[in-house]
Amino acid sequence: MLTDKVKEVIRHSYKAIGNNLENFTPRKQQTFLIAEIAKTLAGEYDKDRKIITIEAGTGTGKSLAYSLGSIPLALMRQKKVCISTATVALQEQLVDKDLPFLREHSGINFQFTLVKGRQRYVCRQKLSQATDESPQAGFTFAEKPKASDLNTLKAMAKALKDGVWQGDIDSWKEHLPHYIWQQVQCDKHSCLKHLAEHTHCPFHKARETMDLADVLVINHSLLLADLELGGGRILPAPDECYYIIDEAHHLPKVARDFSSASVTIKGAIDWVTKCQETGDKIAKLVKSQASISPSIKLADDCQDLLVDLRKVFTFIDNNSSLYFGQEQQDKNGFSKTNSKVKDKEEKLYRFENGVIPQTLKNWAEDLTSSSKKCLAHINKLYKLLMDAVKENEVQLYLAEPLLAEAGFMIQRFENLNSLWQMYEKTDHEKGAPLARWIEMIKGKRHDYLFSASPIEVGFMMEDMLWSKCEGAVLCSATIMALNSFEHFRKQAGLSVNDGSQYQSVASPFDYKRNAQLLVPKMTYEPSAGQFTDELIEKLPKFLAQGRASLVLFSSYWQMEKVADALREKSKSPILVQGEHSRQHIIETHKNRCDKDQESIIFGTQSFSEGLDLPGKYLTNLIITKLPFSVPTSPVEEAQAEFITTRGGNPFMSLSVPETSKKLIQASGRLLRNERDEGMITLLDRRVVSKRYGKQLLDSLPPFERVIEH
Ligand code: SF4
Repeated sequence: MLTDKVKEVIRHSYKAIGNNLENFTPRKQQTFLIAEIAKTLAGEYDKDRKIITIEAGTGTGKSLAYSLGSIPLALMRQKKVCISTATVALQEQLVDKDLPFLREHSGINFQFTLVKGRQRYVCRQKLSQATDESPQAGFTFAEKPKASDLNTLKAMAKALKDGVWQGDIDSWKEHLPHYIWQQVQCDKHSCLKHLAEHTHCPFHKARETMDLADVLVINHSLLLADLELGGGRILPAPDECYYIIDEAHHLPKVARDFSSASVTIKGAIDWVTKCQETGDKIAKLVKSQASISPSIKLADDCQDLLVDLRKVFTFIDNNSSLYFGQEQQDKNGFSKTNSKVKDKEEKLYRFENGVIPQTLKNWAEDLTSSSKKCLAHINKLYKLLMDAVKENEVQLYLAEPLLAEAGFMIQRFENLNSLWQMYEKTDHEKGAPLARWIEMIKGKRHDYLFSASPIEVGFMMEDMLWSKCEGAVLCSATIMALNSFEHFRKQAGLSVNDGSQYQSVASPFDYKRNAQLLVPKMTYEPSAGQFTDELIEKLPKFLAQGRASLVLFSSYWQMEKVADALREKSKSPILVQGEHSRQHIIETHKNRCDKDQESIIFGTQSFSEGLDLPGKYLTNLIITKLPFSVPTSPVEEAQAEFITTRGGNPFMSLSVPETSKKLIQASGRLLRNERDEGMITLLDRRVVSKRYGKQLLDSLPPFERVIEH
């Protein structure tokens, strides 16, 4: 139950914030959300299932709502609040603006910190190795760094030593190429944190501050990384946390990506061969009887592994015309990849319904078993070497390269093992099968990339998070599809009537008064060949509706073709995505608007989410086509196939809800503040001509509608 004391703290804080904010008007949507979140987390609705999913329209003030709804309760019950976001932009807003403001003005005394993934920090040990120019240095790197890279690495080492850099990539001012960072970033397996020399490690120092914080700001990947380890390994334990999952509509995809695995066969053959030497070298260095057995066993099991990997390679190579033969086309002329081939840079073959040949399945079983054994042996050798260093039986400088090498191998064996596990697994008859596919890597190094991924992750989320956590708030401005939580509920693994709460809170904006949605008469549907010409002909008229325009396209080629044609026709000041950086486009656009000049941005899907052009910076939004996406990745194809197999319609159950979300996001670019005004023009007549069109229109905010069809 929510005690009177917590209620009083929340009320008092909300009032205090109001007193400190200019033009603050208490919003009933916001106070409603605060109360619903606090009641859910306190267990008032369901004492075991303290989970609420919220769609909070733009301008509701959801970050203040979830902070006030959770932090006072967490402090009282000695729990932590973990706020997870999908984007860096939101993380920065929370850490640099929202949480400092709340702490300063609410009267609530709490500490917060940003928790980043290990790979955002430099490893002091690797940095010192990389800057060591002696011959034995840098062996973990593919190549010795170039002179200019070495200078960068030395500058980093000096800044770290002088205490002017905290060791995280985000605060390094200069541009840092990824290949340099990769060489010196922290990774869990090569970490020697048990050694006294590593007490000043930037990553571990940052983790220590985490213990003192009441509120941790994290991202979805870090959350998933912790949950994969069982929870409570990187972050506090789930039963000690209230999770606030903002931008929650991204969570299912992040979870799916996290559970997939990929391995190149020849690549694996190379490093498994090398691993036998690693085991041998560790055994020789440790010189104890205990290391002989795992090193011999490692060599034996690596041999078994190599035999099977070669068999797999030969099998695919011999059947390559079957898997990667001529591309086939369906009756409409579209490339088919469903048990056929898609001609990309690497050729791709997806196993229909995830079913692989029995021969491959048998090898997958053997590979799972031998990779598991190898993993156990290399772990044992790693531990023996680490113990020998701690006992001063082996000198650190001799052990370090081998520990790093063994760490690398552990990581790779884990990945290898999880891939083959997904290949040997027999899919549950009632559940969705795993997506399994192979890509042929062409070129000098002819190889095959094997991949597997679950297509549904809901049940995993239930096991890893929902059933374990103390409480969770899932929120976003676009979480519903077609006015329903159903699509998200299934994706996220929440069950019907499981006690979870759902709330949708409308934006306080006056959509009807401030914006008009126009669906003008168009002769052609976007699939027609003449549609682009019709766009070229009609766009100038729609662009004249406002001085600050954003035109959203669904393909690059169409955007470029229209831009070229319009530029030829007139001197239209069009800023086209891809011609300059996003930042440059936005700055130029704002400058033009500030000078009261006309400005037009042409962009594709990535400009329809997260682009913030308030007030006069956007008054005329034109959406050329409904943002349907055709399933292109093997996982999406497998998902569509699974729905079809069960007699469903993937278009209606996947594409239409996803399009609904994207259309809401795209139209959300127009009104960013309560006083913003403007016009949205939707040039896709299917919202009128198709049956699903009405559903799509009805799920948009209540703009004043003008339908000319
Ligand atoms: S403790 Fe680990 S991450 Fe930190 S410097 Fe040492 S090896 Fe690198």
